[in-house]
Amino acid sequence: MEYQHILEEIHTTLQNSPQKGTVASYIPELGKVNADHLGIYLFTLDGKEYGTGHFDIPFSVQSISKVLSLAKALDFVGTDLWKRVDVEPSGNPFNFLTLLELEKGIPRNPFINAGALVISDILLSHLKNPKEDFLNYVRELAEDSSISYNEDVAASEKATGYRNTAAANLLKSFGNMEHNVEDVLDFYFYQCSLSMNCRQLARTFYVFANSGKNVSGKTFLPPGLVKRINAIMLTCGFYDEAGEFAFEVGLPGKSGVGGGIVAVLPGNYCISTWAPGLNEKGNSLLGMQALEMFTTKTKLSIF
Ligand code: GLN
Repeated sequence: MEYQHILEEIHTTLQNSPQKGTVASYIPELGKVNADHLGIYLFTLDGKEYGTGHFDIPFSVQSISKVLSLAKALDFVGTDLWKRVDVEPSGNPFNFLTLLELEKGIPRNPFINAGALVISDILLSHLKNPKEDFLNYVRELAEDSSISYNEDVAASEKATGYRNTAAANLLKSFGNMEHNVEDVLDFYFYQCSLSMNCRQLARTFYVFANSGKNVSGKTFLPPGLVKRINAIMLTCGFYDEAGEFAFEVGLPGKSGVGGGIVAVLPGNYCISTWAPGLNEKGNSLLGMQALEMFTTKTKLSIF
């Protein structure tokens, strides 16, 4: 199949789209990004790569990092993790907080912010130098030592993260947080500030398309865990738009408010998109359209 041609066709169709969505500005640093960027990158399991548009400009991966922290935490604590976080879609926005949601202090899933904060707390118990070790894990997955945090984004979110602070306090009050609220939040904000371009993102998530082995065949996760994580991406990766993403695109995937999306067809490919304008659910507007076009044109989705 002519993948490069298909990616270029999609890029040409979307780059002049009058509707680009709105760049997230609740984290002030993210609001500085130009809405006109559009990048797509495809990594197939037969070792071929295809890219179009702004695929080599780094952006803030934000909630996409939640998949990587979940993978690392599962590595440490295995199925015990599910005593502290559930695996049900929430049907609510990523920053939604209700006492009902946290009835027993157990967040609905690891990809809403409350769930990701519990995962951060777990990682703090197991990593010696949490920020460094987490970054090294991501670098090893991608085999790319140039991946780093964006300190400005981390500081910007720290200065304005009132809702996440509330979530962390709520979790602490329910006894589902061992460490100091401040330490958990600080580590969480750093994870979200991870900066990658589309190529690096697709390389990093290759492991979820390739039964737990990274781009050069090194094993990071057992296939059984990859199956679980992909299932959570499919059901919870897009918050209250997870149904729509499955319906339109048909792939396990994860979005972030930096405008990135990464998705996998297990056994076949990993694809990433970046378009900073978000729809009203907080997912990249053009990124979702690009992926819908890709799976429709190639007929390659899990369905
Ligand atoms: N750091 C962001 C937050 O906590 C992540 C949200 C997202 O990407 N959906 O609000």
